[in-house]
Amino acid sequence: MAKRRKLKKQVYFVLIGIILFIGLIIFGINRYNLYKYHQTNEYKLIEIGYSNDEVQKILEFDEEKINYFLNNTKNTRIIDLLNETYYLDKNFDKYISYMNEYSNLSTTDVIRNINIHLDKDFYEETYPTNTELDTSMLVNKYYYLSEDYVPDDLVTVSQTYSWGEAGSQRIREVVYNAFLDMWNVANDAGYYLMINSSYRTYQDQESVYNNYRNTSGQTYADSIAARPGYSEHQTGLAIDIFSRTNTSSATFASSEEASWLKENAYKFGFILRYPEGKEDITGTTYEAWHYRYVGVDIATYIYEHNITFDEYYAYFLE
Ligand SMILES: [Zn+2]
Repeated sequence: MAKRRKLKKQVYFVLIGIILFIGLIIFGINRYNLYKYHQTNEYKLIEIGYSNDEVQKILEFDEEKINYFLNNTKNTRIIDLLNETYYLDKNFDKYISYMNEYSNLSTTDVIRNINIHLDKDFYEETYPTNTELDTSMLVNKYYYLSEDYVPDDLVTVSQTYSWGEAGSQRIREVVYNAFLDMWNVANDAGYYLMINSSYRTYQDQESVYNNYRNTSGQTYADSIAARPGYSEHQTGLAIDIFSRTNTSSATFASSEEASWLKENAYKFGFILRYPEGKEDITGTTYEAWHYRYVGVDIATYIYEHNITFDEYYAYFLE
């Protein structure tokens, strides 16, 4: 009898031992899982203060960006910045310091300004433009053409389509062909387009600019003319288009021809280069007559996305 009771007691202890052992293992696994979770980026980001939604967004970025979030205090604007359409990885550090300096700017403006060098004053930091990009080359207040750049396929515009002395209007052949296609379609719609200004030599620009500068000072000269080498007209890709009945820069903007050009020029590869409301971006006052040839694909993108060529260039071509 005593022997059986002793056996029962032993089984009882073994059972308790097994239960304790299993309990310990479960506890250990839990502790280990918790430890592992604390090592995850998700947990660390939540500890920094990001919400679950923000954490999910951050974890979609590459490792380098995730590390940036892990090593800095909470800043949700950087999530917005990285999700901007025209975000460029090479500019990351510049965006951050510019955003800190100008905290009132939207992330869209931060991206744009850095991409196109607007963090610098016009002419402050300038670069020779890449002429190998041909019809996609950029000429603005940061990118210039050298004194000796002359397009090698300039053709003379017929006086049927241009003002001025015979032979005085010249543009690149590819531009002329596109212009003639556009001219015909515009003519069918009842509009008679006329080119008022086209290719300008470096020397022309120099004399115009120097003239303003010598008589009214550099600030005035900069407000009214491009510095030599910084005019798009030297590319042979830019034309000032008016109509046969309206050559006034004061009234052309409200003409039917101007409206027609604005809505149709891109179909032929032309963009309104200095649009209204984009003066801060282009650095040039609204010019309803200044069209730049960039080819149909680029012109269509710029028209549909309502951006400037400066922005397009920075994102897609530079
Ligand atoms: Zn012009």
